Amino acid sequence: MTDSNNPLRLHKGRGAASNITGRFASHSSTYESDGWQVDLEPIERLITTAIEEKAKSIIATNQSPDIPFTQSINPYRGCEHGCIYCYARPAHAYMDLSPGLDFESKIFFKPNAADLLEQALRKPGYQCSPIALGANTDPYQPLEKDKKITRSLLEVMQKFNQPVTIVTKGQLILRDLPILAEMAQDNLAQIAISVTTLNNELKRKLEPRTAGPAARLRIIEQLSTTGIPTAVMAAPMIPALNDNELEKILKAGHDVGATRAAYILLRLPHEVAPLFESGFLLTTH
Ligand code: SF4
Repeated sequence: MTDSNNPLRLHKGRGAASNITGRFASHSSTYESDGWQVDLEPIERLITTAIEEKAKSIIATNQSPDIPFTQSINPYRGCEHGCIYCYARPAHAYMDLSPGLDFESKIFFKPNAADLLEQALRKPGYQCSPIALGANTDPYQPLEKDKKITRSLLEVMQKFNQPVTIVTKGQLILRDLPILAEMAQDNLAQIAISVTTLNNELKRKLEPRTAGPAARLRIIEQLSTTGIPTAVMAAPMIPALNDNELEKILKAGHDVGATRAAYILLRLPHEVAPLFESGFLLTTH
């Protein structure tokens, strides 16, 4: 059961304004005012909880013609970056957790990911194609600093000459610059840094726990000058919010060394639509 319909109130540094009930939940609760002004009560600080998940397999495959990769690995479920528009939010409903605040504060990590990857790459029938690291949730979210799962996966990939692609907003990727640079020399690594907006204030509302636009451009610069092919990913483009920035973002990325670019239009699947509406509206009033 997830806590639904709790009063919409912003938690500092969080994206969602509620723990909306997941679509598979068997029960939901309803907030009823007892007459006391809830606005006067202090909001408890929401602590992030890391939950160990023993994965049974680690490479996910897909045959979708809409998706530019066939293999992916997600070291984490949930993402503390807490972007309000995140299309991965609805996946938390499969864990009987909310795609709202739970998604950004109850993070599952897979400590056996590297072992499982090595087993998969050793299989005689393994067909090599690039693995998208963190296709669903960011592989360089804050928990990675402590857990180092993304790092351990890169080490296995390098050992087996396995090509990798990464999309991230996380500055922590700079920790892995040496290994990524070595892999890039063998044409095994391509990175995309997501830049949603160049406006700090809008970034803070949309993506509360991510690096700012200037920091992300510096990441592109550092990766590019180290010889790692790096793209600027203008995503998501949100009509009337940041789509007017598209050309500026692409130019800013090009100016710091990005050699490729892409954009993705906003999608608001399942619970993300009401979360986006309530979370964003609350930050703008
Ligand atoms: S960084 Fe990516 S995965 Fe994490 S919340 Fe934002 S959009 Fe979702």
